[in-house]
Amino acid sequence: MEFRFNAEEEAFRTEVREFLKAELTPGWQDQFDNDTEFLAAQQSQFARQFNKKLAQRRWLTLPWPEEYGGLKASIMQQMVYNEEMAYQGAPTGLNMGVAWVGPSLMIYGSEEQKKRFLPAIANHDEIWCTLYSEPEAGSDLASLQTRAVKDGDEWVINGQKIWTSGAHRSDWGWLAARTDPEAPKHKGISMFILPMDTPGISVRPLINMAGMHGFNEVFFEDVRIPANYIVGQENNGWYQLAVALDFERSSVAGVARARRWWEDLVSFSKEHRSFVGARPEVRHRLAEIGVELEAGQNLCYRVASLQQAGKIPNYEASIAKLYSSELGLRLAGSGMEMLGLYGQLHPRSKYAHLKGRIERYYQLSVAETIGGGTSEIMRNIIAMRGLGLPKG
Ligand SMILES: Cc1cc2nc3c(=O)[nH]c(=O)nc-3n(C[C@H](O)[C@H](O)[C@H](O)COP(=O)(O)OP(=O)(O)OC[C@H]3O[C@@H](n4cnc5c(N)ncnc54)[C@H](O)[C@@H]3O)c2cc1C
Repeated sequence: MEFRFNAEEEAFRTEVREFLKAELTPGWQDQFDNDTEFLAAQQSQFARQFNKKLAQRRWLTLPWPEEYGGLKASIMQQMVYNEEMAYQGAPTGLNMGVAWVGPSLMIYGSEEQKKRFLPAIANHDEIWCTLYSEPEAGSDLASLQTRAVKDGDEWVINGQKIWTSGAHRSDWGWLAARTDPEAPKHKGISMFILPMDTPGISVRPLINMAGMHGFNEVFFEDVRIPANYIVGQENNGWYQLAVALDFERSSVAGVARARRWWEDLVSFSKEHRSFVGARPEVRHRLAEIGVELEAGQNLCYRVASLQQAGKIPNYEASIAKLYSSELGLRLAGSGMEMLGLYGQLHPRSKYAHLKGRIERYYQLSVAETIGGGTSEIMRNIIAMRGLGLPKG
């Protein structure tokens, strides 16, 4: 097997690396308090400015058509971009406006909606959150119960969402709500645009197990929005959710992030020979993870190359998601074992090694195996669509 990027893709990788080198100068994360470094880096003024610079280059909306502020980049270019950003830990966050709100509006939105919202997303002027999950509707999202009822020239929303990332700092919400409770569950859902400052919306923080505030519960009590904030056809929302978008779906970012942590652990082991480097079990574990990283990267490249060839990856994308997110868990666990009791130290501790990042990574990597489809759901897809096994 031979796998190479073409000259254009290599040139683009160099351009992204040079940009990152200039913008993320050594120690750039030190400006944030260690305690909140991970989240602060994503939510800070620095992140906003950084994303503005990406927007100026049209890199935020790399795959979007040129008329909407993108560069119509190829799948491979998107993958290279995602890989480099993740490897450097760039504060790009998960930009939902760019990832699915904008593309859905391009397909299903009215001309008025496109004109109003797409430029603001492309310029990073407005931030979006995604209001899908509910306490009783996660993996089985089609069971969602939040109601939207038409009342004259308005929709009235009542219900509750949960795990809404960034709701506390979003201008707009991308909402899935039930518009026909009598229809079969997939056929009674519609999509809405929701101004997050509308009266009747309350956002309550959920603190994750690492002590960080990333997601929230969102409650709706008689929230009124204009009738023209529905997107696409009424009751067709479920099918709009699953639009086949021309987006890179390789999960390469997870592997690139893991590679960075692994390199840090390898360097640490070399610097602290008596502490970890000389222990055979540490050397073997690091070697094993090195092999897993190569495998994970190739699984991700496979998905991107399928897409590049115009095919729609199916269970292959689930394999890459499952493997890369669980690789993160294995690596974080190995890092904790390597560092022994020091591994548990919070970044605030002066005794913490590697700035306490392994402790943070250990707690945060679990989320990767849940968000965007849990590992069990990925295994179900691989079993049914990949292996042809019967549905359980
Ligand atoms: C970091 C993070 C950010 C998130 N951000 C958002 C967001 O911004 N907006 C949003 O709407 N949601 C968000 N979510 C929610 C996410 O989409 C859900 O957590 C996910 O879909 C799983 O749903 P659930 O938590 O309700 O778990 P459930 O679906 O209740 O699953 C519970 C357990 O049962 C297992 N299970 C469920 N069904 C099956 C099955 N058929 N076969 C085998 N096992 C099964 C699951 O794998 C899991 O282990 C986020 C989640 C995380 C972790």
